Amino acid sequence: MLKNINESRKQQLEELESFTNAINEKIANIVETLGWTVESVTNMDKEYLTCPYDPSHRLTEKSLNDHLASCQWKAEGYGKLDVPLSEPFFPTDSPLCIKIDKQLQEQILKKAKEQNPAMQIGMGERLVPRTSDRIVIDFTRDERKAIYDYVIANTAKPNIGEDITNINNL
Ligand SMILES: [Zn+2]
Repeated sequence: MLKNINESRKQQLEELESFTNAINEKIANIVETLGWTVESVTNMDKEYLTCPYDPSHRLTEKSLNDHLASCQWKAEGYGKLDVPLSEPFFPTDSPLCIKIDKQLQEQILKKAKEQNPAMQIGMGERLVPRTSDRIVIDFTRDERKAIYDYVIANTAKPNIGEDITNINNL
């Protein structure tokens, strides 16, 4: 009995082998007709990357950045009509500029809540807002104030001139 099973498995294996050989030969013929090589075709496949927001999206390295930006936009629930917040005029390492990522945002809100337990906290996950609408919808007034205060406290003040700051000069 065991011998029979082994025999039939062996036969199956042989059939499978001859099938894959035939297919490989066919592929090699097709690729050759097109003037390519099997290596160039299989390497090309490896260059595809998978989108972190949707694994069914396969991307080339070239299209990666544009795709990630638009796919993340969609993944975070924004639509075509949403207007993104403007990009900062100053470079991100400028003392006049601050970049708030998710971690920093959480820290700011957590610290503000510790300092003022009466502070109103919103519901759900707080993604870093990308539109002004989202800032108003996702964050309570207290949270917006906490983030605003943090930004003011941690960025250099622009020089707006003494004429305006000194009321006696008016
Ligand atoms: Zn995607």
